[in-house]
Amino acid sequence: MKILTINAGSSSIKYQLITMPDEKVLCNGLVERIGEAEGRIKHTVTGRETQIDGVPIADHKVGLSRVAALLMDGPDRVIDAPGEIAAVGHRVVHGGERFQQSTRITPAVKAAIRELSPFAPLHNPANLAGIEVAEEIFPQAEQVAAFDTAFHQTMPEYAFRYAVPTDLYTEHGVRVYGFHGTSHAYVAKAAAAWLGKAPEACNLITAHLGNGASITAIRNGRSVDTSMGFTPLDGLIMGTRCGTLDPALIFFLSERLDMPLDEIDSLLNKRSGLVGLCGDNDLRDIEARATAGDGAAELALTMYAYRIRKYIGAYAAALGRVDALVFTAGVGENSSEVRRRVCTDLGLLGISLDEVANEVMVRGQTGPIHAQESRVAVYVIGTNEELEIAQQTAAVVGECG
Ligand code: ADP
Repeated sequence: MKILTINAGSSSIKYQLITMPDEKVLCNGLVERIGEAEGRIKHTVTGRETQIDGVPIADHKVGLSRVAALLMDGPDRVIDAPGEIAAVGHRVVHGGERFQQSTRITPAVKAAIRELSPFAPLHNPANLAGIEVAEEIFPQAEQVAAFDTAFHQTMPEYAFRYAVPTDLYTEHGVRVYGFHGTSHAYVAKAAAAWLGKAPEACNLITAHLGNGASITAIRNGRSVDTSMGFTPLDGLIMGTRCGTLDPALIFFLSERLDMPLDEIDSLLNKRSGLVGLCGDNDLRDIEARATAGDGAAELALTMYAYRIRKYIGAYAAALGRVDALVFTAGVGENSSEVRRRVCTDLGLLGISLDEVANEVMVRGQTGPIHAQESRVAVYVIGTNEELEIAQQTAAVVGECG
Protein backbone atom coordinates (compact mmCIF):
# COMPACT_ATOMS: atom_id res chain seq x y z
CA MET A 1 0.00 0.00 0.00
CA LYS A 2 1.36 3.45 -0.94
CA ILE A 3 0.83 6.24 1.56
CA LEU A 4 1.50 9.91 0.89
CA THR A 5 2.29 11.99 3.99
CA ILE A 6 1.65 15.70 3.84
CA ASN A 7 2.77 18.42 6.22
CA ALA A 8 1.20 21.63 4.93
CA GLY A 9 2.43 24.93 6.36
CA SER A 10 1.17 28.41 5.53
CA SER A 11 3.53 28.70 2.55
CA SER A 12 4.95 25.19 2.19
CA ILE A 13 4.08 21.52 1.67
CA LYS A 14 6.45 18.79 2.88
CA TYR A 15 5.64 15.36 1.50
CA GLN A 16 6.84 11.78 1.42
CA LEU A 17 5.57 8.72 -0.44
CA ILE A 18 6.05 5.56 1.61
CA THR A 19 5.09 1.97 0.88
CA MET A 20 3.64 0.01 3.76
CA PRO A 21 4.17 -2.31 5.49
CA ASP A 22 7.77 -2.44 4.22
CA GLU A 23 8.30 1.26 5.07
CA LYS A 24 10.22 2.09 1.91
CA VAL A 25 10.46 5.78 1.03
CA LEU A 26 9.80 6.14 -2.72
CA CYS A 27 10.31 9.89 -2.79
CA ASN A 28 10.12 12.98 -0.66
CA GLY A 29 10.13 16.68 -1.20
CA LEU A 30 9.27 20.20 -0.25
CA VAL A 31 7.22 22.87 -2.00
CA GLU A 32 8.22 26.31 -0.74
CA ARG A 33 7.16 29.95 -1.16
CA ILE A 34 3.56 29.15 -1.99
CA GLY A 35 1.76 32.40 -2.82
CA GLU A 36 4.93 34.12 -4.00
CA ALA A 37 5.87 34.86 -7.61
CA GLU A 38 8.92 32.61 -7.44
CA GLY A 39 8.10 29.27 -5.84
CA ARG A 40 10.48 26.37 -5.39
CA ILE A 41 10.08 22.59 -5.38
CA LYS A 42 12.69 20.11 -4.19
CA HIS A 43 11.85 16.55 -5.12
CA THR A 44 14.07 13.59 -4.28
CA VAL A 45 13.78 10.06 -5.67
CA THR A 46 16.29 7.53 -4.32
CA GLY A 47 18.95 10.12 -3.58
CA ARG A 48 18.50 12.08 -6.87
CA GLU A 49 17.27 15.58 -6.12
CA THR A 50 15.42 17.67 -8.67
CA GLN A 51 15.06 21.35 -7.85
CA ILE A 52 12.56 23.49 -9.71
CA ASP A 53 13.02 27.21 -9.11
CA GLY A 54 11.15 30.31 -10.12
CA VAL A 55 7.80 28.70 -10.87
CA PRO A 56 4.74 30.59 -9.66
CA ILE A 57 2.85 28.51 -7.08
CA ALA A 58 -0.29 30.53 -6.44
CA ASP A 59 -1.75 28.33 -3.72
CA HIS A 60 -1.68 24.91 -2.07
CA LYS A 61 -3.73 23.42 -4.91
CA VAL A 62 -1.18 24.43 -7.54
CA GLY A 63 1.61 23.19 -5.24
CA LEU A 64 0.09 19.76 -4.69
CA SER A 65 -0.86 19.42 -8.39
CA ARG A 66 2.79 19.95 -9.24
CA VAL A 67 3.77 17.30 -6.70
CA ALA A 68 1.24 14.90 -8.25
CA ALA A 69 2.77 15.59 -11.69
CA LEU A 70 6.27 14.88 -10.33
CA LEU A 71 5.04 11.59 -8.84
CA MET A 72 3.47 10.46 -12.13
CA ASP A 73 5.51 11.93 -14.99
CA GLY A 74 9.04 11.77 -16.26
CA PRO A 75 11.85 9.28 -15.90
CA ASP A 76 11.71 9.34 -12.09
CA ARG A 77 8.01 8.66 -11.79
CA VAL A 78 7.04 6.54 -8.80
CA ILE A 79 3.36 5.94 -9.64
CA ASP A 80 1.38 5.64 -12.87
CA ALA A 81 -1.94 7.08 -11.68
CA PRO A 82 -3.25 9.00 -8.64
CA GLY A 83 -5.41 5.95 -7.82
CA GLU A 84 -2.29 4.05 -6.69
CA ILE A 85 -2.12 6.16 -3.56
CA ALA A 86 -4.25 4.30 -1.03
CA ALA A 87 -4.18 6.96 1.65
CA VAL A 88 -2.91 10.44 2.44
CA GLY A 89 -1.75 11.02 6.02
CA HIS A 90 -1.90 14.67 7.06
CA ARG A 91 -0.01 16.25 9.90
CA VAL A 92 -2.47 18.40 11.86
CA VAL A 93 -1.05 20.45 14.72
CA HIS A 94 -4.02 20.85 17.03
CA GLY A 95 -6.59 18.19 17.75
CA GLY A 96 -7.69 19.63 21.09
CA GLU A 97 -9.38 17.17 23.46
CA ARG A 98 -11.46 15.77 20.65
CA PHE A 99 -8.76 13.66 18.96
CA GLN A 100 -6.85 11.13 21.00
CA GLN A 101 -5.49 9.29 18.01
CA SER A 102 -5.20 9.52 14.23
CA THR A 103 -8.57 9.69 12.55
CA ARG A 104 -10.13 9.22 9.13
CA ILE A 105 -11.08 12.65 7.82
CA THR A 106 -14.80 13.31 7.44
CA PRO A 107 -16.66 16.63 7.05
CA ALA A 108 -17.14 16.61 10.85
CA VAL A 109 -13.40 16.12 11.42
CA LYS A 110 -12.63 19.03 9.08
CA ALA A 111 -15.13 21.21 10.92
CA ALA A 112 -13.46 20.29 14.23
CA ILE A 113 -10.00 21.15 12.86
CA ARG A 114 -11.42 24.50 11.73
CA GLU A 115 -13.02 25.11 15.14
CA LEU A 116 -9.67 24.41 16.81
CA SER A 117 -7.90 27.02 14.65
CA PRO A 118 -7.89 29.72 17.38
CA PHE A 119 -5.63 27.35 19.37
CA ALA A 120 -3.13 27.04 16.47
CA PRO A 121 -3.83 30.01 14.18
CA LEU A 122 -0.66 29.60 12.11
CA HIS A 123 -1.00 25.86 11.62
CA ASN A 124 -4.53 24.41 11.60
CA PRO A 125 -5.80 26.56 8.68
CA ALA A 126 -2.75 25.55 6.59
CA ASN A 127 -3.20 21.88 7.56
CA LEU A 128 -6.84 22.14 6.50
CA ALA A 129 -5.86 23.69 3.16
CA GLY A 130 -3.57 20.67 2.60
CA ILE A 131 -6.43 18.30 3.38
CA GLU A 132 -8.85 20.02 1.02
CA VAL A 133 -6.51 20.02 -1.95
CA ALA A 134 -5.48 16.39 -1.32
CA GLU A 135 -9.16 15.43 -1.38
CA GLU A 136 -9.46 17.05 -4.81
CA ILE A 137 -6.25 15.67 -6.29
CA PHE A 138 -6.42 12.17 -4.78
CA PRO A 139 -10.21 11.70 -4.49
CA GLN A 140 -10.05 7.91 -4.27
CA ALA A 141 -7.52 7.92 -1.40
CA GLU A 142 -8.51 7.63 2.23
CA GLN A 143 -7.57 10.89 4.02
CA VAL A 144 -6.27 10.58 7.59
CA ALA A 145 -5.30 13.24 10.14
CA ALA A 146 -2.43 12.65 12.59
CA PHE A 147 -2.43 15.24 15.37
CA ASP A 148 0.64 16.66 17.18
CA THR A 149 -1.44 16.87 20.35
CA ALA A 150 -3.01 13.39 20.27
CA PHE A 151 -0.20 11.45 21.99
CA HIS A 152 -0.47 13.74 25.04
CA GLN A 153 -4.19 13.20 25.52
CA THR A 154 -3.36 10.46 28.03
CA MET A 155 -2.04 13.02 30.54
CA PRO A 156 -3.86 12.90 33.88
CA GLU A 157 -5.94 15.94 34.78
CA TYR A 158 -3.60 16.92 37.62
CA ALA A 159 -0.84 17.30 35.01
CA PHE A 160 -2.78 18.99 32.22
CA ARG A 161 -4.72 21.57 34.24
CA TYR A 162 -3.42 25.03 35.12
CA ALA A 163 -4.15 26.42 38.57
CA VAL A 164 -6.51 29.09 37.22
CA PRO A 165 -10.29 29.34 37.68
CA THR A 166 -11.96 26.13 36.50
CA ASP A 167 -14.30 27.83 34.04
CA LEU A 168 -11.31 28.83 31.91
CA TYR A 169 -10.85 25.11 31.35
CA THR A 170 -14.48 24.07 31.07
CA GLU A 171 -15.65 27.06 28.99
CA HIS A 172 -12.54 27.94 27.01
CA GLY A 173 -10.33 24.86 26.86
CA VAL A 174 -7.45 26.44 28.78
CA ARG A 175 -5.17 23.50 29.67
CA VAL A 176 -1.88 21.88 28.70
CA TYR A 177 -2.15 20.22 25.29
CA GLY A 178 1.50 19.51 24.45
CA PHE A 179 2.98 19.18 20.96
CA HIS A 180 5.54 17.13 18.97
CA GLY A 181 3.40 14.10 19.91
CA THR A 182 4.17 12.26 16.67
CA SER A 183 7.89 12.48 17.37
CA HIS A 184 7.63 11.53 21.04
CA ALA A 185 5.44 8.54 20.07
CA TYR A 186 7.89 7.40 17.39
CA VAL A 187 11.03 7.55 19.55
CA ALA A 188 9.21 5.95 22.49
CA LYS A 189 8.45 2.88 20.35
CA ALA A 190 12.04 2.78 19.09
CA ALA A 191 13.40 3.07 22.65
CA ALA A 192 11.16 0.20 23.76
CA ALA A 193 12.64 -1.91 20.95
CA TRP A 194 16.16 -1.06 22.17
CA LEU A 195 15.15 -1.98 25.71
CA GLY A 196 13.72 -5.26 24.44
CA LYS A 197 10.38 -4.54 26.11
CA ALA A 198 6.82 -3.87 25.01
CA PRO A 199 6.13 -0.10 24.75
CA GLU A 200 3.43 -0.53 27.42
CA ALA A 201 6.09 -1.74 29.84
CA CYS A 202 8.42 1.25 29.45
CA ASN A 203 8.88 4.41 31.50
CA LEU A 204 10.73 6.99 29.43
CA ILE A 205 11.79 10.60 29.27
CA THR A 206 11.95 11.73 25.63
CA ALA A 207 13.67 15.02 24.72
CA HIS A 208 12.77 16.38 21.27
CA LEU A 209 15.36 19.14 20.78
CA GLY A 210 14.91 20.85 17.40
CA ASN A 211 14.20 24.50 16.62
CA GLY A 212 11.18 23.97 18.81
CA ALA A 213 11.85 21.72 21.78
CA SER A 214 9.82 19.71 24.24
CA ILE A 215 10.38 16.94 26.75
CA THR A 216 7.84 14.29 27.73
CA ALA A 217 7.38 11.91 30.64
CA ILE A 218 6.02 8.56 29.45
CA ARG A 219 4.64 5.97 31.86
CA ASN A 220 3.82 2.51 30.50
CA GLY A 221 4.06 3.82 26.95
CA ARG A 222 1.64 6.74 27.53
CA SER A 223 2.43 10.44 27.84
CA VAL A 224 1.78 11.61 31.41
CA ASP A 225 3.39 15.04 31.28
CA THR A 226 5.04 17.31 28.72
CA SER A 227 6.82 20.64 28.73
CA MET A 228 4.92 22.54 26.03
CA GLY A 229 1.58 23.75 27.29
CA PHE A 230 -1.49 25.54 26.00
CA THR A 231 0.83 26.69 23.20
CA PRO A 232 4.33 25.66 22.08
CA LEU A 233 5.84 28.63 23.96
CA ASP A 234 6.20 26.89 27.33
CA GLY A 235 8.91 24.65 28.74
CA LEU A 236 12.41 24.30 27.37
CA ILE A 237 14.55 27.13 26.01
CA MET A 238 14.19 27.00 22.20
CA GLY A 239 15.83 28.63 19.18
CA THR A 240 13.71 31.78 19.41
CA ARG A 241 11.12 30.98 22.14
CA CYS A 242 11.64 31.71 25.82
CA GLY A 243 10.09 28.57 27.29
CA THR A 244 8.93 28.76 30.92
CA LEU A 245 8.91 32.16 32.53
CA ASP A 246 7.03 34.05 35.20
CA PRO A 247 3.76 35.15 33.53
CA ALA A 248 3.91 38.39 35.57
CA LEU A 249 6.74 39.46 33.27
CA ILE A 250 4.06 40.17 30.67
CA PHE A 251 2.40 42.75 32.97
CA PHE A 252 5.77 44.40 33.49
CA LEU A 253 6.44 44.58 29.74
CA SER A 254 2.96 45.94 29.10
CA GLU A 255 2.57 48.36 32.01
CA ARG A 256 6.10 49.54 32.66
CA LEU A 257 7.62 49.35 29.20
CA ASP A 258 4.36 50.17 27.42
CA MET A 259 4.79 47.31 24.98
CA PRO A 260 1.69 46.38 22.94
CA LEU A 261 0.53 42.76 23.33
CA ASP A 262 1.39 41.79 19.76
CA GLU A 263 4.92 43.02 20.34
CA ILE A 264 5.21 40.98 23.55
CA ASP A 265 3.96 37.97 21.61
CA SER A 266 6.62 38.48 18.96
CA LEU A 267 9.32 39.18 21.61
CA LEU A 268 8.67 35.91 23.47
CA ASN A 269 8.12 33.74 20.36
CA LYS A 270 10.63 35.16 17.88
CA ARG A 271 13.29 37.15 19.71
CA SER A 272 13.82 35.16 22.90
CA GLY A 273 15.33 31.73 23.63
CA LEU A 274 18.85 31.19 22.33
CA VAL A 275 18.60 34.12 19.90
CA GLY A 276 17.60 36.45 22.73
CA LEU A 277 20.45 35.26 24.91
CA CYS A 278 23.28 35.36 22.39
CA GLY A 279 22.01 36.51 18.98
CA ASP A 280 22.22 33.07 17.33
CA ASN A 281 19.65 30.30 17.28
CA ASP A 282 21.60 27.54 15.57
CA LEU A 283 23.30 25.34 18.16
CA ARG A 284 26.22 24.68 15.80
CA ASP A 285 27.12 28.38 15.72
CA ILE A 286 26.57 28.76 19.45
CA GLU A 287 28.83 25.80 20.24
CA ALA A 288 31.56 27.18 17.99
CA ARG A 289 31.33 30.58 19.66
CA ALA A 290 31.35 29.07 23.15
CA THR A 291 34.44 27.00 22.29
CA ALA A 292 36.13 30.20 21.10
CA GLY A 293 35.47 31.78 24.51
CA ASP A 294 32.34 33.86 23.77
CA GLY A 295 30.64 34.48 27.14
CA ALA A 296 27.09 35.07 25.86
CA ALA A 297 27.18 31.86 23.80
CA GLU A 298 28.56 29.91 26.78
CA LEU A 299 25.77 31.22 29.03
CA ALA A 300 23.10 30.38 26.41
CA LEU A 301 24.42 26.82 26.13
CA THR A 302 24.60 26.43 29.90
CA MET A 303 21.06 27.73 30.39
CA TYR A 304 19.76 25.53 27.54
CA ALA A 305 21.18 22.36 29.11
CA TYR A 306 20.28 23.40 32.67
CA ARG A 307 16.60 23.81 31.73
CA ILE A 308 16.57 20.30 30.24
CA ARG A 309 18.24 18.89 33.39
CA LYS A 310 15.58 20.47 35.60
CA TYR A 311 12.84 18.80 33.57
CA ILE A 312 14.61 15.44 33.70
CA GLY A 313 14.71 15.72 37.50
CA ALA A 314 11.04 16.70 37.64
CA TYR A 315 9.96 13.90 35.32
CA ALA A 316 12.06 11.31 37.15
CA ALA A 317 10.13 12.32 40.28
CA ALA A 318 6.82 12.16 38.37
CA LEU A 319 7.57 8.71 36.97
CA GLY A 320 9.25 7.08 39.97
CA ARG A 321 11.14 4.71 37.68
CA VAL A 322 12.88 5.64 34.43
CA ASP A 323 14.00 2.94 31.99
CA ALA A 324 15.49 5.25 29.39
CA LEU A 325 16.22 8.85 28.50
CA VAL A 326 15.97 9.59 24.76
CA PHE A 327 17.50 12.45 22.78
CA THR A 328 16.03 13.25 19.35
CA ALA A 329 15.62 15.95 16.63
CA GLY A 330 18.29 18.30 15.23
CA VAL A 331 20.06 19.16 18.48
CA GLY A 332 19.31 15.91 20.32
CA GLU A 333 20.58 13.76 17.46
CA ASN A 334 23.67 15.82 16.66
CA SER A 335 24.98 17.72 19.62
CA SER A 336 27.17 15.49 21.80
CA GLU A 337 28.02 18.69 23.71
CA VAL A 338 24.40 19.35 24.73
CA ARG A 339 23.90 15.67 25.66
CA ARG A 340 27.09 15.73 27.75
CA ARG A 341 26.08 18.92 29.57
CA VAL A 342 22.60 17.57 30.21
CA CYS A 343 23.77 14.22 31.59
CA THR A 344 26.85 15.29 33.60
CA ASP A 345 26.48 14.57 37.31
CA LEU A 346 23.06 12.95 36.99
CA GLY A 347 24.31 9.95 39.00
CA LEU A 348 21.63 10.75 41.58
CA LEU A 349 19.06 9.66 38.96
CA GLY A 350 21.13 6.68 37.81
CA ILE A 351 22.12 8.37 34.54
CA SER A 352 25.71 8.00 33.43
CA LEU A 353 27.04 8.57 29.88
CA ASP A 354 29.68 6.70 27.95
CA GLU A 355 31.68 9.72 26.76
CA VAL A 356 33.09 7.94 23.71
CA ALA A 357 29.76 6.51 22.54
CA ASN A 358 28.24 9.97 23.01
CA GLU A 359 30.90 11.69 20.91
CA VAL A 360 30.51 9.45 17.88
CA MET A 361 26.71 9.53 17.69
CA VAL A 362 25.61 11.89 14.90
CA ARG A 363 22.56 12.34 12.70
CA GLY A 364 21.07 9.27 11.15
CA GLN A 365 22.54 7.03 13.82
CA THR A 366 20.52 5.47 16.56
CA GLY A 367 21.83 3.72 19.61
CA PRO A 368 22.82 3.67 23.25
CA ILE A 369 25.23 6.21 24.73
CA HIS A 370 25.06 5.22 28.41
CA ALA A 371 27.90 3.79 30.47
CA GLN A 372 27.76 0.14 31.49
CA GLU A 373 26.98 1.02 35.11
CA SER A 374 24.15 3.44 34.18
CA ARG A 375 20.83 2.36 35.76
CA VAL A 376 18.94 4.35 33.14
CA ALA A 377 19.61 3.64 29.46
CA VAL A 378 20.34 6.74 27.35
CA TYR A 379 19.60 6.58 23.62
CA VAL A 380 20.02 8.84 20.64
CA ILE A 381 17.16 8.06 18.26
CA GLY A 382 16.60 9.71 14.90
CA THR A 383 13.01 10.87 14.82
CA ASN A 384 10.86 10.11 11.78
CA GLU A 385 7.54 11.90 11.98
CA GLU A 386 6.63 11.03 8.38
CA LEU A 387 7.03 7.31 9.05
CA GLU A 388 5.00 7.60 12.26
CA ILE A 389 2.23 9.39 10.31
CA ALA A 390 2.39 6.68 7.60
CA GLN A 391 2.19 3.92 10.23
CA GLN A 392 -0.74 5.57 11.97
CA THR A 393 -2.45 6.19 8.61
CA ALA A 394 -2.00 2.54 7.63
CA ALA A 395 -3.49 1.51 10.98
CA VAL A 396 -6.52 3.77 10.47
CA VAL A 397 -7.04 2.55 6.89
CA GLY A 398 -6.75 -1.03 8.13
CA GLU A 399 -9.45 -0.37 10.72
CA CYS A 400 -11.68 1.33 8.12
CA GLY A 401 -11.21 -1.34 5.49
P1 ADP B 1 12.94 21.56 13.23
O1 ADP B 1 12.68 21.72 14.68
O2 ADP B 1 12.79 22.82 12.46
O3 ADP B 1 12.27 20.35 12.60
P2 ADP B 1 15.46 20.11 13.46
O4 ADP B 1 14.88 19.07 14.35
O5 ADP B 1 16.14 19.66 12.22
O6 ADP B 1 14.47 21.27 13.07
O7 ADP B 1 16.51 20.92 14.34
C1 ADP B 1 17.18 22.03 13.79
C2 ADP B 1 18.27 22.48 14.75
O8 ADP B 1 19.19 21.40 14.98
C3 ADP B 1 19.15 23.57 14.16
O9 ADP B 1 18.64 24.84 14.45
C4 ADP B 1 20.45 23.37 14.88
O10 ADP B 1 20.46 24.19 16.03
C5 ADP B 1 20.44 21.94 15.35
N1 ADP B 1 21.52 21.15 14.74
C6 ADP B 1 21.54 20.55 13.55
N2 ADP B 1 22.74 19.94 13.34
C7 ADP B 1 23.48 20.17 14.45
C8 ADP B 1 24.79 19.81 14.86
N3 ADP B 1 25.60 19.11 14.09
N4 ADP B 1 25.21 20.24 16.07
C9 ADP B 1 24.41 20.97 16.86
N5 ADP B 1 23.16 21.32 16.54
C10 ADP B 1 22.70 20.94 15.35
